Amino acid sequence: MTDITAENRGGGRNPAAPGAGRTVASAVPQSLVARLARGVTAAGDADLTRTLAPLTGEPLAELPQSTPQDVTVAYELARRAQQAWAAQPVRRRAAVLLRFHDLLLKRQDEVLDLIQAETGKSRLHAFEEVLGAALAARHYGRAAVGYLKDRRRGGALPVLTHTVEGRRPKGVIGQISPWNYPLELSVSDALPAFVAGNAVVNKPDTQTALTALWARELLIEAGLPADLWQIVIGDGPVIGPAVVEHADYVSFTGSTPTGRDVAQRAAARLVGASLELGGKNALLVLADADLDKAAEGAVRACFSSAGQLCISIERLFVHRSVADAFLERFVARTRAMRLGGGLAYGADMGSLVSTRQLETVTRHVEEAVKAGATVLTGGQARPELGPLFYEPTILDGVTPEMTVCGQETFGPVVSIYRFDTDEEAVEQANATPYGLNSSVWTKDRRRGRAIATRLRTGTVNVNEAYAAAYGSVGSPMGGMGDSGLGRRHGAEGILRFTEAQTVATQRLLPIAPSLGLTDEKFAALMTTGLRALKALGLK
Ligand code: NAD
Repeated sequence: MTDITAENRGGGRNPAAPGAGRTVASAVPQSLVARLARGVTAAGDADLTRTLAPLTGEPLAELPQSTPQDVTVAYELARRAQQAWAAQPVRRRAAVLLRFHDLLLKRQDEVLDLIQAETGKSRLHAFEEVLGAALAARHYGRAAVGYLKDRRRGGALPVLTHTVEGRRPKGVIGQISPWNYPLELSVSDALPAFVAGNAVVNKPDTQTALTALWARELLIEAGLPADLWQIVIGDGPVIGPAVVEHADYVSFTGSTPTGRDVAQRAAARLVGASLELGGKNALLVLADADLDKAAEGAVRACFSSAGQLCISIERLFVHRSVADAFLERFVARTRAMRLGGGLAYGADMGSLVSTRQLETVTRHVEEAVKAGATVLTGGQARPELGPLFYEPTILDGVTPEMTVCGQETFGPVVSIYRFDTDEEAVEQANATPYGLNSSVWTKDRRRGRAIATRLRTGTVNVNEAYAAAYGSVGSPMGGMGDSGLGRRHGAEGILRFTEAQTVATQRLLPIAPSLGLTDEKFAALMTTGLRALKALGLK
């Protein structure tokens, strides 16, 4: 564990845990990699692809690459398994999720090692994934019966028409996931899909496939039939389209450009898709905010998982009257953060995941500085800590022509802007095509909630960074505008994996002239009936 700055070396808030001397190689032995690799649907003689551990740059795993033909096989296996699974009562399917919840909490250290090894994030940030996955497992384990049960609806003719709305599984869900939250984003969408009676063919990002494969193993241990969750691995542009090609519904999480491509492919096949995409999220510090809490919240909001979090804050708007006082606190807290790569709790931030991410972050900051922005803290890579470490960075004086102003950096970089009125703050926060998440800080919670309703984002957190809304798994999460289509979590998060079906049973009389009525008499009777139904207040 190494401190980020010379000033705080050795003096951080927590004693820096060294990871008990455990290395990535000892925490993720090749025997484990080989076992997990057997979960990939790929031919026996498949080409191998290699991943590296971001924390150290050392080789991590060799995994078989699936071909489009393997994807076809995966769908065949999944389709067969889905038939028997869908015939099981919801309650029995839900019990698997609740067992998974318990196993996950018990065996969390195994997956925390894998997540850290594959992503480079700190253990605390890896734990957020355990938290998110457990919340989703409990919620859908307990609530699925209610979400999926048949519902009586008003019939075409009261008393004579008995109408029931039911939910049928879509079939096989094609799920494509990114590398940034490999446990959370493979499980939180797959669990509601399974409990609704579907199978899943999942393409995780190759870099983080071990975590998804581990989650699959654990779910099988919890009682999921093995063929129900197929995992295919390979280059996105090569096998991603094959995953969409066979799917009955597509659940995609990733960047906005890829999301557009996936949406077009799904639309051409007339299958639905939910798209959880990028963001350029805003945090508002109102004049009456508790500045200490806001500064601490801003650190979490901007630098969790080194900013490689879709709901992370990259634009921070602060009321001019408190800007200096807030920035003093925010910069000091950010400077005190400890960067570290140990496989134990203690670091405040880990590393970036890939050279591509490091290059993007470096380019956005260097370009902004060259164009006149000021670095309040950070702004440097830290190769002495590991090949992909970059300091948490706060920029001031960012202007619209700078890339960092409007484009998602997806790294530990936040830009500061000042405002004078609530009106101006809302307008500036909304001045982006994205609409994923935002955060508002004020001592007046009612005022915070009122401002929230004017922000064009799928989630808004008042006096919290992102976890309050994201962790409220009974309520939908997702993006407006370029941040996506559809929602995960809550009713929408499970009903998207179902087809609505209306079963209406007619008795005694048909909805047509009968019992010797002429067409005219029938029309007149129905007209009187319609007026009466409205007068009675029926819906
Ligand atoms: P990405 O779009 O490059 O890749 C996402 C997944 O899509 C990967 O598995 C990739 O292999 C696959 N893919 C690539 N090309 C494809 C194609 N042509 N067809 C089908 N699949 C293809 O995104 P990324 O860089 O891995 O992830 C970071 C992005 O994801 C950021 O923009 C982030 O904001 C977003 N994200 C959004 C959410 C959310 O919930 N809204 C959550 C996490 C990440």
